[in-house]
Amino acid sequence: MKNKILVTGGAGYIGSHTCIALHEAGYDIVVYDNLSNSSHEAMNRISNLIGKPIEFIEGDIRDSESLKKVFADHQFFGVIHFAGLKAVGESVAKPLMYYNNNVSGTITLLEVMTEYNVKRLVFSSSATVYGDPETLPIDESSKRSCTNPYGQSKLVVEHILEDLAVSDSDWNLITLRYFNPVGAHSSGQIGEDPNDIPNNLMPYISQVAVGKLSQLNIFGNDYATIDGTGVRDFIHVTDLAQGHVAALNYLEQQNSALGFLPINLGTGTGTSVLELVTAFSEVSGQKIPYQFADRRAGDIASCYASADKAQSLLGWQAKLSITEMCQDTWRWQSMNPHGYDTV
Ligand code: NAD
Ligand code: UDP
Repeated sequence: MKNKILVTGGAGYIGSHTCIALHEAGYDIVVYDNLSNSSHEAMNRISNLIGKPIEFIEGDIRDSESLKKVFADHQFFGVIHFAGLKAVGESVAKPLMYYNNNVSGTITLLEVMTEYNVKRLVFSSSATVYGDPETLPIDESSKRSCTNPYGQSKLVVEHILEDLAVSDSDWNLITLRYFNPVGAHSSGQIGEDPNDIPNNLMPYISQVAVGKLSQLNIFGNDYATIDGTGVRDFIHVTDLAQGHVAALNYLEQQNSALGFLPINLGTGTGTSVLELVTAFSEVSGQKIPYQFADRRAGDIASCYASADKAQSLLGWQAKLSITEMCQDTWRWQSMNPHGYDTV
């Protein structure tokens, strides 16, 4: 068995897929999650897929006493830190909740890690920290700026990690900036399970396809893009999960500390909203009714990654196509029309 890893937010969408990838790569994992946006059922399914129970602790990253107990009970090689709130619109309505959860929670986690001398972290950041990019594809040295509290909370944590690395050269702080994660595990057993009407494009499309929602609103058809609709770098969640394994492998190879290391996880290719709708419709055999609506406030025209750094440093590259992203999403959605809820 390889090193033991603490996975905060491991019951969530990206975390659950990463737990499976970590297990397959031989890591021993402990999941710490307050289940604010996930469920015991997700943990059960992960355990079923890997064929053994996963150690799960229900707890909040802002609860330092609870975290200290976890660190006292286990000898961790490092932490993968997914736990956080992620809805942009909600963050505008409830900024304090977002800064408290995402920023204060991360500070508490870092304090406990310091106390227990665990100084390797893989942090879930986002392409949102690049704001409206000046050039495409976006590389890691691009200017950062955010317009909403969710994005700001990621940017603030990045600054905290940079300062931490300066203050103490023992830290290894890999910051993975995800582009647009979509798709689901190929078994159809785990996937993205939004609580309400989805904000993101792929779960919205799949809920229209399965008949839960009547039609998709496409926000803007007058962008300077291939067909006027927004362009994004969609990346299969399984590829993203492998990116975390690659980051840990990289940490294991280091003889000296890395400091703060930001790395994009994207495919390097942009796909338009209309192209994704067409691909999903072909894969599922379902009609996806849509109408064009006004641009959504805060949206940008195009966003896609330069994934060169992940390739050169981590030896990681996304492998799965848009068709596979749609196939796996459709399998998950049609097998679980109510997500993890068995109603
Ligand atoms: P998710 O909501 O499915 O998973 C997050 C998990 O963290 C959930 O299980 C939730 O219960 C848990 N959690 C939240 N606050 C917590 C707290 N205070 N203490 C303990 N657990 C807590 O989200 P996801 O899509 O899997 O995203 C994982 C991470 O990646 C988040 O930090 C998110 O901001 C970031 N990210 C996501 C996307 C995306 O599009 N999904 C894109 C870029 C970055
Ligand atoms: N989008 C859309 N209709 C929706 C949700 C999203 O047209 O119901 C568009 C959105 O305007 C953007 C793209 O799909 O151009 C991706 O949006 P998403 O919210 O999935 O991710 P973002 O890139 O905003 O993080």
